[in-house]
Amino acid sequence: MNVTNIVQAIEHWGQIDPNRVVYREEQTYTYGQLIEWSDKLAAFLEVTAKSKAPIVVYGELEFEMLVAFLAASKTGRAYIPIEQTTPKDRVELILSVASPELIISVGDWQGPETQIPLVDNKKISELFAEEARTYERQLVEDEQTYYIIFTSGTTGVPKGVQISHDNLVSFVNWELSDFHLREGMQFLSQAPYSFDLSVMGVYPALTSGGCLVPLKKSVINDFKTLFTTLPKLAINVWISTPSFMKICLMEPTFDEAHVPSIERFLFCGEELPKKTAAALLERFPEAEIYNTYGPTEATVAISGIQVTKELLETYSRVPIGYVKKDTCVFCMDGDTLVEKGQVGELIINGPSVSKGYLNNPEKTVAAFFKHQGQAAYRTGDSGRIIDTEKGQLLLYEGRIDFQVKFHGYRIELEDIDHHLSSLPLVKQAVVVPRYVENKVEQLIAYVVPEEHSFEKEFQLTKAIKESLSEFVMDYMIPQRFVYVDHLKQTANGKIDRKSLINEVNPL
Ligand code: AMP
Repeated sequence: MNVTNIVQAIEHWGQIDPNRVVYREEQTYTYGQLIEWSDKLAAFLEVTAKSKAPIVVYGELEFEMLVAFLAASKTGRAYIPIEQTTPKDRVELILSVASPELIISVGDWQGPETQIPLVDNKKISELFAEEARTYERQLVEDEQTYYIIFTSGTTGVPKGVQISHDNLVSFVNWELSDFHLREGMQFLSQAPYSFDLSVMGVYPALTSGGCLVPLKKSVINDFKTLFTTLPKLAINVWISTPSFMKICLMEPTFDEAHVPSIERFLFCGEELPKKTAAALLERFPEAEIYNTYGPTEATVAISGIQVTKELLETYSRVPIGYVKKDTCVFCMDGDTLVEKGQVGELIINGPSVSKGYLNNPEKTVAAFFKHQGQAAYRTGDSGRIIDTEKGQLLLYEGRIDFQVKFHGYRIELEDIDHHLSSLPLVKQAVVVPRYVENKVEQLIAYVVPEEHSFEKEFQLTKAIKESLSEFVMDYMIPQRFVYVDHLKQTANGKIDRKSLINEVNPL
């Protein structure tokens, strides 16, 4: 399988086998439906949306989300997925950065009041029931932006990573070939569409005639339901963060005997702890387990490695893999190239590297540059490249900045600081992570409070958490609050986060 155009590759399955199932939960949907409905929505977009500005697609993991993505791609538009649980103010920030042409609200709209035209789920259902209309197809291709995913930004304003059609093609072809995926496999779809881990399932599945099997938040958040659902999923390809796997491993029957259909496990988004990898190898001895690595800015992942017992015995941390063929990774210290084998910032240079952040030239210039005619991205990850029998291997050593991964989600600590410090109850604040075996276990907020009338600290904490939840995602709300009279500063007058991190994580 070699994909040259994403939409055409998906439509191929609709043409040769329209009844093939593309999405399966209680109800199933076919490739035929995906094509028909996306054409109807595309025809509607053609007459409704005036410009080619991106469109927002709002909801959770519904089938209609995929329909809307495809409709955007068929009319030459990029789409921006926004998860329904995103706080209003954050949605507002995204809308103000992106200036979308239209919002397709598959879920019930809980975002802010807006002047932007909104197509609600009732209208969407009506459209699907109408007669098909012709429209002028204009597929997103080449360097045009295919999707935009917003991630946490240090200033408190989310950054929109623009992924082009060709970025996506480079990623999809690598995943299909290097992880030995076949036509028609069944993929777990668990990550929200606003997290680029979801792309690891969606496009490789859809371009290879596969099927997505969603695991919705309502199931994930209720362990009992989750554990009874897992054996019934009948999936072949598991895709998740290691954090989610850690939860699933709490269920003793989550093993090859009870869930024999799983052939591949693909992990991405955060460090794969050796313990999790070792436990999974025990539970699924016949399956292939891969650790993959990459930032949203380089389209999901750019390296991967099969995890075996020997690998775990050889390295102190699970290596992040061999770089995909069309891409080059090197290490730098600032602007200076670091000698092979030495630790430096990992720089990714290749065809899956984004053109930059939407409407944010400042952050784009800071993180992206051109190298040998291709886009390069400064990951902020510290790592090493070593020679092995099988080629150059990447080893991960942590972050060089204050970005963290918490339950697999990417968070700039400054993003939380910004919103926390803006609250009326807070004079000053800084958030630090507490680590256990290189993994963030807890976010702790150190807060200098304003004068307040709460008798007990827990009441103050409750009020602060409630206000904060209006601005940041729920996974960004610190678990612990420590109240202090003042926060230590560095020589140049900034809050000394590093010394607090050392205090919280003594060697
Ligand atoms: P995101 O853009 O959400 O995919 O986050 C990208 C960041 O997650 C990377 O820059 C790394 O810091 C971290 N990351 C992703 N995959 C891995 C991995 N396999 N091991 C360690 N860190 C990872």
